[in-house]
Amino acid sequence: MKDMTDKPLLIVGEDLCQQLVGRAEAFDAVQDVFAAMARGDAYNFPVIREAIGYADALYGFKSGFDRAGQVLGVKSGGYWPGNMDKGLTNHQSTVFLFDPDTGRLSALVGGNYLTAVRTAASSAVSIAHLARTDAKVLGMVGAGHQSAFQLRAAAEQRDFEKVVAWNPHPDMLPRLGAVANEIGLEFEPVTQEELGAQADVIITITSAFEPLLMKDWIKPGTHLACMGTDTKGKMEVDPALVASATVFTDEVAQSITIGEAQHAIANGALTETQITPIGAVINGDHPGRTSAEEITLFDGTGVGLQDLAVAHVAARMADENGLAETAIL
Ligand code: NAD
Repeated sequence: MKDMTDKPLLIVGEDLCQQLVGRAEAFDAVQDVFAAMARGDAYNFPVIREAIGYADALYGFKSGFDRAGQVLGVKSGGYWPGNMDKGLTNHQSTVFLFDPDTGRLSALVGGNYLTAVRTAASSAVSIAHLARTDAKVLGMVGAGHQSAFQLRAAAEQRDFEKVVAWNPHPDMLPRLGAVANEIGLEFEPVTQEELGAQADVIITITSAFEPLLMKDWIKPGTHLACMGTDTKGKMEVDPALVASATVFTDEVAQSITIGEAQHAIANGALTETQITPIGAVINGDHPGRTSAEEITLFDGTGVGLQDLAVAHVAARMADENGLAETAIL
């Protein structure tokens, strides 16, 4: 029996997401959901990620419920390495939102652009709350698809004057340099050691499995946002650097298993209780940075609730402005 009181399903495509969800909207949505997670008002369900034995694809689900924001749903998708040859991006995802009161599917939202904008919002939130207010030099390690989103969002958090950058594949750096110049920042490709010596804030966003930055290269007072490590075995920075920093994360359970902290946890240099959810800082329950010399490190592992939060914004704005396609299930 069709329930005529239910609203139709909203369909919000990639183009509409780009049009509706800018960096400011993503920042607010991600900050709010991190705060809700730390209060216990929102939680992520266990992540499923499987090699499907076809097309070399990795496929999975990230899901959760934000009771405070009334957002329930799942991001489904993964990584198809052969897509580039077909003119598609290798990462593919779609968000499904459900009405928490009835369980009915309420929106289908394209997840590709939103993944990049929510990941950039995550490191931006960490910079807003943890970086020194006098930070002037932004260090970028990584120059792939996510890096430009990261750079644009970070640049809005402090009065940066310059970007220093290093990437294992230097031919990818000019594209990032063009983004820096476009937003009025000087751009200088440097060695890893030089990057550590100059940068006040560092974002790492690579697919590395070995440390790209060593502890002794980082100057006191630096804030690092380690964003690339989201799988067991990946690593972007020296575990000794993680152990010596004050560590914050989106979700402790992910940080210790698939995040940058997994290695320092495994070798016993860091304990789970030394890792603070960034939401506790947002809520005022943790002071965050306590001195100008302290090295702070945000382990941004990427949680499903971030995807649901930005997809909810896209669906709400599309609905309010009459822009979404609709369907009756
Ligand atoms: P991409 O493929 O566009 O770029 C990859 C980047 O990693 C480039 O800078 C490349 O030079 C570098 N790289 C590739 N192989 C490497 C290796 N073996 N060692 C060191 N560096 C290597 O990828 P992207 O979309 O920019 O994503 C970058 C990383 O961010 C990926 O690891 C991805 O899984 C991760 N990611 C994390 C989140 C999160 O929420 N934390 C979200 C999206 C992506």
